[in-house]
Amino acid sequence: MAPDYRGRFAPTPSGPLHSGSLLTAVASYLDARQAGGTWLLRIEDLDPPREIPGAADIILRQLEDHGLAWDGPVQYQSQRQAAYAAALDQLHAQGMAFYCTLSRRQLAERGGHHPGPAVATSPGPNRAVRLAVPETTLHFDDLLQGPQQSRLSTEDGAFVIRRRDGFYAYQLACALDDADSGITHVLRGIDLLESTFRQLWVLDCLSRPRPQYGHLPVLVDASGEKLSKSAGAAALGNDHRDNLFRLLSLLGLAPPPPLRHERCDAQLAWATTHWQRNALAGHRALRD
Ligand code: GLU
Repeated sequence: MAPDYRGRFAPTPSGPLHSGSLLTAVASYLDARQAGGTWLLRIEDLDPPREIPGAADIILRQLEDHGLAWDGPVQYQSQRQAAYAAALDQLHAQGMAFYCTLSRRQLAERGGHHPGPAVATSPGPNRAVRLAVPETTLHFDDLLQGPQQSRLSTEDGAFVIRRRDGFYAYQLACALDDADSGITHVLRGIDLLESTFRQLWVLDCLSRPRPQYGHLPVLVDASGEKLSKSAGAAALGNDHRDNLFRLLSLLGLAPPPPLRHERCDAQLAWATTHWQRNALAGHRALRD
């Protein structure tokens, strides 16, 4: 394994972690630790209207309670505005970014597809900044899901990198943060697979290296609904050892039953040795 593996977990503080988000944290932690790598924590507090006060601190405590110790200081996107502004300037200077006043409704009337810089407007307040997309097909090899491809121009088209309310968009911030932190491996939920193509394009435009991506299956309930959507079912219990043991089982690790009663750090040490990323290959959902 590469000695310079740098992974990360990047939760949005819109509420406490639930089983599904903790599963992602555990998988990315194990993948990094097994490789002898670094595991960073980034709080994606980019969108104040969606955030719950205190949620970021609760998330940090939940990770600690489950033995998931990160390396170095926690990064907060709210403190990275200057970096996002510089990237936006670069994209404007390259002629890739443009202002746009089309509302979500107007876009829906056009079939949800953005026509690109042809509808650009002059700079000004209360308008979004979008990134033009290429006509070509983007490709990457997913660590878990195999070869992937998408043509952004035939999907939703040019996408928002700064919102009309002035907040930077997740696609810009996430891609830039991963690049600036030297992240080499991004393991996250498969619900973000489509975002990956946008983030690859942001990185390509900014001439920054691409990390490797692996999209993990999401936790679903018996009816196939993503667990985070049915909040009650996804809530974590107070028994941290039991929570962790259950997640290790869901990840296909078959932990020996007595491990359920051991401290979280002991469970994680066992799991780091036995982790097999490939056991999840091709899986898009895990039934809780
Ligand atoms: N902040 C995103 C979320 O909580 C995840 C971003 C990522 O892992 O790239 O869904």
